[in-house]
Amino acid sequence: MNERDSEDVAYKLKEKGYEIVSDEKIADVVLLNTCSVREQAELKAIGKAGHLLRSQNKNTRPIVGVMGCMAQNRGADLFDHLPDLDLVVGTQKFHRVPQYVDSLIDRVGDIPKRIVAIEDEEGSESEIKDHLDTEIDNPTAFVSIMQGCNMNCSFCIVPKTRGKERYRTIESIVEECRELADRGIREVTLLGQIVNAYGRGSLRKINNKTPFVQLLESIDKIDGLERIRFTSPHPISFGEDLINCYKTIPSLCEYVHLPMQSGSDRILKLMNRPYSRQRYLEIAMKLREVNPKMRLSTDIIVGFPDETENDFELTKSAFEEVNFEMAFIFKYSERKGTPAVSFNNHVPREVKEQRNQVLLSLLEKQSLKSNNLSIGKRFQILVESKAKRGVGKLMGRTRCNRKVIYDGENCEIGQMFNVQISSATPTTLFGEKI
Ligand code: SAH
Repeated sequence: MNERDSEDVAYKLKEKGYEIVSDEKIADVVLLNTCSVREQAELKAIGKAGHLLRSQNKNTRPIVGVMGCMAQNRGADLFDHLPDLDLVVGTQKFHRVPQYVDSLIDRVGDIPKRIVAIEDEEGSESEIKDHLDTEIDNPTAFVSIMQGCNMNCSFCIVPKTRGKERYRTIESIVEECRELADRGIREVTLLGQIVNAYGRGSLRKINNKTPFVQLLESIDKIDGLERIRFTSPHPISFGEDLINCYKTIPSLCEYVHLPMQSGSDRILKLMNRPYSRQRYLEIAMKLREVNPKMRLSTDIIVGFPDETENDFELTKSAFEEVNFEMAFIFKYSERKGTPAVSFNNHVPREVKEQRNQVLLSLLEKQSLKSNNLSIGKRFQILVESKAKRGVGKLMGRTRCNRKVIYDGENCEIGQMFNVQISSATPTTLFGEKI
């Protein structure tokens, strides 16, 4: 989501005559888009901004701004850590960045000027811009379909930094996807904090299908768009209609990233995640049933307050039972202003670290096993870019979101091929074009 927001701000700046440069050392303005989900992300951003502000003398240093969730979360308090910071732009004000930068550039002489813009924007649609003019150098694109989150997970800062749920219309999203397809995009990833709850309480169900399913069906009809993905869904809105889409919607990729957070009902309850372990396992089983090629990944938090060894064992066994092939495993991070901060029995750092390691090694084992099963098989890939390593190597992804490295020509980026897999690591498949 941050990548998508950054893309949008970059485009708006270019439209105003600014140029995006590849090296921060020659930039006149450096904007950091930030995340507040864990403390570590905030510390990193503050460190980076501090470094930029100190790196040169006051008159020649770039204008430095902090945007996004940390800006929204901390506002003017950021000046306590970064007294020379020039610009603080919250999540509802991205579209005004060029205006703020203009006015900072026009500052007269040495008069210091700071801009802090974090209040909510009137007119909820204002920041949900479509993508029609952004430059495209990649065959896959992110499409934001909603903003904000109305859930109240007790650990999570996102509802505070991103505000209430606001939805774009189906028509405007489909129009954007159609335009992207006309410009050569083959794959879209629909984005939202609770993406499958898109339109709830605002758009109607039709033939018992949720607005999200209606949206998927409409996007599927677009010529040239071969693949649809979405992230992140929530178990509470993963009904039969959505599960069935994996049978009926050809462009919907057989890969689901479904955050589980914990395998213990007691912890799920403390987290205010309104589903049970049983319900989660049932969704996972049904997804594998509708399409045996389905791959599943998840988010897990270890060391949530009061998580006992027994709770952790339940998470571990659910992790094995679902057989996740990819996962983001997080150590619980205290976020000021969230309910979990005041819960009892916070888990010591070493225990979090140890639980983290246990799940990481389980993940490595499970993903290697499932990748090894792919050896000798054929997959369709969409070629995305040059591989990070290796001359003449390209990287594409299978429908189930596995990276495949193969020998190819740069002009193949954006095309789709079948490859045969010859070897595998836990994270990557290697193959040959056939
Ligand atoms: N809205 C999305 C996730 C947003 S944040 C959803 O509910 O799925 C991405 C992930 O960060 C979450 O799924 C969670 O696993 C993790 N996360 C959020 N808050 C956290 C915290 N305080 N400590 C550790 N991990 C956290």
